[in-house]
Amino acid sequence: MGLQKTINIDTNSSSVIIGEDVFQVLSAFLNSYQNQKIFLLVDENTLKHCVTTLITQVSALENVEIIEVESGEGNKVLDVCYQIWKTLSEYKAERTSLLINLGGGVITDMGGFVASTFKRGIDFINIPTTLLSQIDASVGGKVGVDFEGLKNMVGVFNEPQQVFIYPQFLSTLDKRQMLSGYAEALKHALIKDDKYWKKLKDGMLSDSAKWQNLIESSVNIKNNIVLNDFKEAGERKLLNFGHTVGHAIESYSLENDENALFHGEAVVIGMICEAYISTKKATLTTEELKEITTTLLTFYPKYEIESKQYHFYIELMKQDKKNENNNINCTLLNKIGEGVIDGEVEVELIIDALNYYTEL
Ligand code: NAD
Repeated sequence: MGLQKTINIDTNSSSVIIGEDVFQVLSAFLNSYQNQKIFLLVDENTLKHCVTTLITQVSALENVEIIEVESGEGNKVLDVCYQIWKTLSEYKAERTSLLINLGGGVITDMGGFVASTFKRGIDFINIPTTLLSQIDASVGGKVGVDFEGLKNMVGVFNEPQQVFIYPQFLSTLDKRQMLSGYAEALKHALIKDDKYWKKLKDGMLSDSAKWQNLIESSVNIKNNIVLNDFKEAGERKLLNFGHTVGHAIESYSLENDENALFHGEAVVIGMICEAYISTKKATLTTEELKEITTTLLTFYPKYEIESKQYHFYIELMKQDKKNENNNINCTLLNKIGEGVIDGEVEVELIIDALNYYTEL
């Protein structure tokens, strides 16, 4: 099969370029940095799996300064930013320098934040290398780091100059990471696009020829939402579907499980619970709920939840600043392919939804 056409999606003030020949576009882009210093931020996995491909295809990067940090969410913190700022200073980075972030969401979030603040902001571009970062973190301009154990507490909205997505980087990603990203794609389909849902239901991961189409569909959905509501005053809340319950389960699992749930795995549980709630508080039918539940459980193993954990989850959900009147704010579904924001959900109904999941 020949190359699929490289596509360009315009975002708020930047663009996302997706395709197998994306490095040609990157090479042309770098012409305007010919006399500037360029830095490449990586972790040990993207150093091992992605750097050679990048540098071989983009000759302008032959002598790029590589800054390596350790992988993992635990390193998306200010201490590591300090190290990167220090390296940039030592290597005499200037206002006109460019930082290239090559990695998953940890690298693109943190690198974007480092670049946005160094000398009041230098240019940066992102080359996301995980499915989650390609379809989710690639759009929306949120950059930042965790602080005192709280996710994304310190950061700003700032878009990269451009985002370059090379789908084949996914070929070295492990299956569990791929599926964690796929959960966000399933969410995009459920809130906006029933035809995309049907394609995802049939499976788009095992055939690498389908990756570009998957990335393109998700980036388009997220981008269209973000374009209407960059600062999350309304429509952008659609993207929270599955995340009210999901976040609580994720936080609890991070604290208590030896092998903690990945973000996407927790969102899947959240989506099943919030789909259940949608049959009571929105217009999702029980047939659609069944379809969603069965589909998600074919991709993701069931997670064991005990009822004694419920009150921890509820307490975590209550801390959310979006809540009103002692109820919990959830994004719901009117049908497959149509989300609805600002559902006010009573605690009792959240418990019914958790029971629905545990009894599956
Ligand atoms: P990650 O960056 O930790 O990557 C997951 C793992 O995959 C890491 O070990 C990484 O080294 C490895 N890896 C990366 N690319 C690889 C490749 N091609 N082959 C093999 N291994 C590879 O995590 P993630 O799941 O990409 O992103 C999660 C982060 O993204 C979280 O911090 C989250 O807050 C953030 N995020 C941000 C946004 C946003 O809008 N800014 C959206 C979603 C998620």
